[in-house]
This record gives sequence, C-alpha cells and structure tokens, in this order.
Amino acid sequence: MNVLIVDDQEENRYLLEAILKGNGHDVRSVGNGAEAMEQLKSDDIDLIISDILMPVMDGFELCRKVKADERLRHIPFIVYTATYTNLQDKEFAIKIGADRFIVKPCEPDVFMEAVQDVMSGVNSGNIALTPPAQEEEVLKLYNERLVKKLEQKMLQLEKETRALRQTQEALRESESRFRLFAELAPVGIVISDHQEKTIYASKKFVDCFGYTLEDIPSVEECWSLTCPDKKLRNRIRREWQNAVDIARKTCSEIKPMEYPVVCKDNSVRHVVIRMASTDQLNIMIFTDITDRKIAEQEHGKLQEQFNQAQKMESVGRLAGGVAHDYNNMLGVIMGYTELAMEKINPDDPVRADLEEVLNAAKRSTEITRQLLAFARKQTIDPRLLDLNENVESILKMLRRLIGEDIDIAWLPESQLWPVKIDPSQIDQILANLCVNARDAIAGVGKVTIETENVTFDEDYCADHAGYLPGDYVLLAISDDGCGMDKETLDSIFEPFFTTKEVGQGTGLGLATVYGIVKQNNGFINVYSEPGKGTTFKIYLPYHAGEPLEIRAERVEEIPMNHGETLLVVEDEPAIMKMSKIMLENLGYRVLAANTPTKAIRLAQKHSGAIHLLITDVVMPEMNGRDLADQLNNLYPDIKVLFMSGYTADVIAHRGILNQGVQFIQKPFSKKDIAEKIRQVLVQS
Ligand code: ADP
Ligand code: MG
Repeated sequence: MNVLIVDDQEENRYLLEAILKGNGHDVRSVGNGAEAMEQLKSDDIDLIISDILMPVMDGFELCRKVKADERLRHIPFIVYTATYTNLQDKEFAIKIGADRFIVKPCEPDVFMEAVQDVMSGVNSGNIALTPPAQEEEVLKLYNERLVKKLEQKMLQLEKETRALRQTQEALRESESRFRLFAELAPVGIVISDHQEKTIYASKKFVDCFGYTLEDIPSVEECWSLTCPDKKLRNRIRREWQNAVDIARKTCSEIKPMEYPVVCKDNSVRHVVIRMASTDQLNIMIFTDITDRKIAEQEHGKLQEQFNQAQKMESVGRLAGGVAHDYNNMLGVIMGYTELAMEKINPDDPVRADLEEVLNAAKRSTEITRQLLAFARKQTIDPRLLDLNENVESILKMLRRLIGEDIDIAWLPESQLWPVKIDPSQIDQILANLCVNARDAIAGVGKVTIETENVTFDEDYCADHAGYLPGDYVLLAISDDGCGMDKETLDSIFEPFFTTKEVGQGTGLGLATVYGIVKQNNGFINVYSEPGKGTTFKIYLPYHAGEPLEIRAERVEEIPMNHGETLLVVEDEPAIMKMSKIMLENLGYRVLAANTPTKAIRLAQKHSGAIHLLITDVVMPEMNGRDLADQLNNLYPDIKVLFMSGYTADVIAHRGILNQGVQFIQKPFSKKDIAEKIRQVLVQS
C-alpha cells in the first residue's frame, strides 16, 4: 500500500514513516497540503495521513480539495493532529470528508489498528464517494475553526509573552542587583569573556586606576597597562598560573597576588588581585591596599626612629656615666704630662714620648667629647654669633688639620644673619666635616666652606623632603673626594658607623654633627655621588639680634696671671693635686680644698682677697652651685668657674648653661684653663 504522509514537522514524518514501513507499506512524505496535491497528481496513493496545522495549505484544505476531486475522492483520508483536537474540529473534519480523526500522540499499534480499520472500511466499499457538504457551509465551518484556532493561539502567545516578560524582568532585576553589588563593592572589578575580551570594568576600578573599559579592551591590554614592566608582568603571570594549577589539583582557593599597579596618571598603587571563573566569564578583583602599605611603612619608619632614639638614649646614658670618671682620669694624665714636659729640657728625647702621651690623651678626650655631643649631653653655652667670624677664627687650625695637599676655599656670604649656638659646637662641626673630607680625598683636592642666608617657604618645603620652612643660615662644606654610595649614605649618621679601618674611624663624627645640629633646632642634608664628591649642608635657624662679641683669631700663647688668688674645690684627690700644681705653675696663689665644707672653712680663715672660685659641680656633700652661693656671702666680689666632666643640671638646663654661668669642660689642658681663667677674671 502506498501511503502519503503530510506533516510539516520532520520528526512526526519520520515517526509515521517508521511505523508504516515497519508494517510493510510504501511511504511518501511531504511537508504541506500543496505539496501533497502535487504528489497526488503523479502518484498512485492508497491512503493519505495528514496533519492539520501546516504552512501554505493546511490539512482541512487538503482534505476538502481531495474529497472535492472526483479522481481523488476514493483515497481514504486520516487526520492525525495535535493542535485541532476538540469535538468541533473532529466534526468539521468528518464533514469535509475525512475518514478518521486521530489525536496525537498515539501508540503505534493503536494507530495501525485505526489504519487497518479505515482500509477495511474502504475495501468493503465503506467510503463516502459523494462530494462533501455544501461549499458555503464548509467554508463557514472552516472559518469558525480558523477563528477558534486563532483565538487559542493568541491566548497561548499572550501567556508565553507574559512568561517571557517575567523572565526578562527577573533577569534585568538580577543583572541590576549584581551591577549594584559590583559598583558598590570597595574593590575594582574587571570581567572578561573566555576570549579574554573585557566586557565590564567597575566604577571603583575606573576611579582608582584611571583606566576605562575602552582603555582595556582585552585582559592582555589590562595587564600591559597596569604592569608595564614586562619582566615583572611575566613573573606575576607565571606565578599566577602556578597558583591556578595548584588550586585545581588540590581544589583549594586561588592564592591572591600582590603587585604594584601603574595608574593612568603614572602613579603607583599597591594592589591585591584575585581571580575567579565561571563557565562563561573571568572575573578579576582588584583590592587597593596602598593606604595600608603606607601605614605599614610609616609604622616601620616610626619604629626605626624609636629604635634610633633608644639607641641614642642608651649611648647617652653610657656616655654620661663614664664621662665623669673618664674625664677626671684624662685630666690627670694630661695635666701631669704637661707638667713633666715643662720640667725637662726642650731637646730631651723623653719629651717626644711625653708629646705622644699628651696627644693620645687629647684624642681620648675628643672621643668622650664626641659621645657627649652626640648624646646631646655636653654642656653648651649658646651665644648670638656671626658664623663667618667663627669660621674665620679657626680656618688656620682647619688648614693645619687637613694638610697641605688639600686646598680650603672659603666663600662667606657678605651680610650673614646671626645664629645662636655655642661657638665650640661650630668648631666641632667644622673639625668633623673637614677631617671626613680629608679622609675622602686621596692625594690633592679641594674643600669648600660656604655660608649663605636662605629662606624656605611652605611651598618649597612641600616639594623638598627634609626641609622645614623658615629663615636659616646655611653652612656648607663640600669636597671633591671619593663620595658615597646610597647604602653608605643611609647609615652615616648612625653612631659607630664607619667605613674606615679600625683605629682610623670611630663612626662618631657625623653622629656628633647630627646631634649638635638637632640640639640647635637646625637640620642637615647630604648630597654625594661616588667618585664625584660630597656636600654637607647645615641649616641653623636665624636668630634676631646683634651678635655680641667679635672674636679675634684665637691666641696661641698661654695668658699669664696678675697675681690673683684662686680657691679650687675638687673631691677627686688626683685632680685636686694636679690642678693645684698646674695653677701654681701659671703663677696663681692657690687655696685647695677637697670638700665644700673644707672650702668654706678655708675661705673664712683666709685674710686676703679671693678672686675666683674654681669648683667641681657634682660633689658628695654639697653641689658646686650651693657652694658658690655660700662663698658669695663671704666674698661678694668672688667670681666663679665651674668645671665638670658632663652635663649637670645644677648649672645648666637640659645641657644649656644658665645665664651668666662660666664653665670649663673636663679634662682641660693647661692652656685651656689659663685662657678660661683670664676670660672670667677680666669680665666685669
Ligand atoms: P668616621 O669618620 O669615624 O668613619 P663619621 O661619622 O665621621 O665616622 O663618618 C661616617 C662614615 O661616613 C665614614 O666612615 C665615611 O664612610 C662616610 N663619610 C663621611 N664623610 C664623608 C665624605 N666627605 N666623603 C665620603 N664619605 C664620607
Ligand atoms: Mg669622621
């Protein structure tokens, strides 16, 4: 039997074909009524099985056409439908001549039974061979069927549209919720598809790094812009890949990575980056940790400063502790050496040995002095002075200090502002810096000392780290020596830092200079380049007023006495004895006492004048200050000179001498004390 299947859906055709062929029939299949009509023209067909809803010509129309055609009318027509399934549809189909109405889906054997049934009906002549109902009625019914169907379809469509709209709405809502999350999140987010094309960059990302989505069309672009250093970039990507592999193998989270992001404006921000993937997307999350980094660095710096301060504090305490006894002993060594030298012939060979002893003692004195200065524990007597005059007064000494191969150029500012500082501290600064310059110059070279008035405003200081606004007097010492590398530069102010050989350097020179500059509220900057040279710039605050004294070049010879009487009080017997001899050698009349009580008794008993009291400051039963007050009652004109190995708050406030107090630092040479005594005695 030849069966013609008419259905627009391939799988329906296929299914029917399979059933029918399986039952031994020949099958032809077409997609709609029009094609079926075409097929019927040429082929001998025994049965038509047709769907109803089809394009071009539907099953009703086909059925109508077949049954209206005398030549085809005898072919049995089965309607097999899934869409037109209600009773009216069936009635209409029958009306227009269909022989059977089967609703899809239908079990194959039930279906085949129906086919058999129709065919046996045909064979027994049980098929309507008269033309079907009136054309007009048929058309009316057909229209009804169509309208009905249309209504149903419209309703269905409407329902589907509504569902679609709801889905879209939900999608939009979800999309905007996630967009809101992404925009509000305190991290930058970049999303790319699996072709590495970027499709989203969050506002925070744009705000933080300056790049917009247009700037980073691909992940590759994003990497090369944010990390222009190719080596670093490759390293990060490699590490990243490793982390991803490990995470895959161990099912753990991908380790976040940290790297410095170069922003669009070229600034650098520290970032932790995390990555995640979905089936379709890669998500990169950038957390800006710059502020935390800065805070950490600042904390580190503070910690370092604190450590440095602690180190200074302990060095200071140590220095203060040993300075007293140490200076006393050095005083004794120096004093007796000087006395011994005076006793022997100038060309006695022992004299040269003694000279060495004296030099060694002086160098040791210098070390304690440096320690005290660095620890800001030396007693100072700040005065308003003209730095130029101060420099000039020791130029000769400096020239001698650094030797003949090195030239000193002196370039003073003409109307230099006054500063307030202890002149001996200027000497210490100059001596230390010039000795360092000398050590940095191999062979011949040049050291330049300059002064200048300078003013820094807020703007300047904002742009120049290490500067503070204000008016300053600049003291600059430059050399054309070996210079320093960055590493050395970082440590030069640390106490005991030296690059010199043992015995050559103590590492205290610059620490001392630093301590002095800080003590005087100034600041210091260093410029150095290996092989080129070094410049130290010291800024001391301008101090309004007229510099008091104009100092002449320092005297070399020892000033002599005019027969004055001195009362010396010192509890350390060795010093006491030595000082007495030294002062008597200078030609003074000396009254000596080793305790304040004895001194007072001595003064009470003494009949003549006492011109000067020279006293230690720290003594067991009474301090020097109180002793001076008591003696002042007995001798209203008595002058006082304090001597001490270290700062004592009795006569000074935080190391700065009280107004009008005269002081000499122990240990002192014969010349030092002679000069100081003269200075005090001639004062009105
Ligand atoms: P010291 O001179 O005892 O080594 P300082 O504190 O004076 O100690 O100096 C510390 C270090 O700083 C020196 O050892 C040297 O390396 C370096 N330095 C100081 N001044 C200069 C300079 N003008 N040129 C080159 N290096 C210098
Ligand atoms: Mg030095």
